[in-house]
Amino acid sequence: MNTQFQTRREFLKTSTLAAASLPFVGTLTGRAQTSAPAKKLGVALAGLGSLSTHQIAPALQKTSFCQLTGLITGTPAKAERWKAQYNIPDKNIYNYDNMDKMADNPDIDVVYVVTPNGLHAEHTIKAAKAGMHVLCEKPMEVSPEKCQQIIDACKAANRMLAVGYRLHFDPNHLECVRLGREKVFGNLNLIQAEYGFRIGDPKQWRLNRTLSGGGPLMDVGIYALQAARYLSGEEPASVSAVAANNDPVKFKDIEESIAWQLKFPGGAIASCNTTYNFNGLDRLRVFADRGWFELAPAYGYGGIQGKRSDGKWTAFPPMDQFAAEMDDFAQCILNKQPTKVPGEEGLRDLKIMMAIYEAAQSSKTIRLT
Ligand code: NAD
Repeated sequence: MNTQFQTRREFLKTSTLAAASLPFVGTLTGRAQTSAPAKKLGVALAGLGSLSTHQIAPALQKTSFCQLTGLITGTPAKAERWKAQYNIPDKNIYNYDNMDKMADNPDIDVVYVVTPNGLHAEHTIKAAKAGMHVLCEKPMEVSPEKCQQIIDACKAANRMLAVGYRLHFDPNHLECVRLGREKVFGNLNLIQAEYGFRIGDPKQWRLNRTLSGGGPLMDVGIYALQAARYLSGEEPASVSAVAANNDPVKFKDIEESIAWQLKFPGGAIASCNTTYNFNGLDRLRVFADRGWFELAPAYGYGGIQGKRSDGKWTAFPPMDQFAAEMDDFAQCILNKQPTKVPGEEGLRDLKIMMAIYEAAQSSKTIRLT
């Protein structure tokens, strides 16, 4: 029995009950909106790349409980552009080496870590040590051990930690969780979850294992894994998997595509796929005893479309997943309430993703419980 297996089993043994349903209890009921605070919490973004630029900073202009007040970047030219665009004073601009100085800055309460996966622990731990609450993008890190280091550092600093699982705040996904957990169509039998795209620039960090931790599974397959877990409300008992690398030059470091199957204790099977080599894989479909429900497209920032076999799906008004995620975290901090997306949730996914890789490499079914 290898150490990885023991760790996973020990972890799941101690956390099965909690993992089975608790993280979504709050999600299902929703968080009561408290009145807007006298002072919004200040958020500093660490990493001013694509996600920060196109999603998070714009979302921070819509939030009620937090606002963009600081920047952490290794590129001074970016800081110049951002500070002009978002009216950030020079005293609130940091780099990855002087983040500890944030401890003296009353304008910043939260650091949102949006750097490559393999740097999350470094940046999250620095932020926590500087006294900041931390929102860490998914995947939480590249290994369970790194995730645990993040959890430990935030605990030691008495700071809150959440993982950027934006779909926990999307009403379409919450509706699917309700349909699944309340067994509106009876017991779940088969969950099909798939998300993937064709990746561009061959030099980007996503293709470098040290920075990414893996390929499409770590990047977007994680959404399919999450969906299977939160719809069933259970932790998988076992996993099997198969991976393909048809372009061994571009994908020399990571998998190109991977398909995996999860078996849940309640009887449901999840069949999941992800890829970096074709566009349009974006669907969640659930077959239960008396009908089915689906989202297609399922995982984007907007435009999610739902359907159910009885034709009764109600469309939800557009919303900003990132604004909802950040306001929720800010309210958790202000009200001293636990987050629905704690570090332990990120750690669980990393443990299962490591088992998926192990299953693909060994061609064996890996038991998780
Ligand atoms: P990106 O490459 O566009 O941005 C990464 C940023 O990190 C850049 O500003 C880059 O300069 C900075 N950086 C700091 N040190 C670096 C280094 N050593 N190498 C490379 N870049 C370095 O990536 P992104 O798409 O913004 O993704 C950032 C994080 O956000 C990742 O963890 C990713 O998984 C996550 N993400 C989440 C979602 C979501 O929907 N929640 C979507 C996209 C990305």
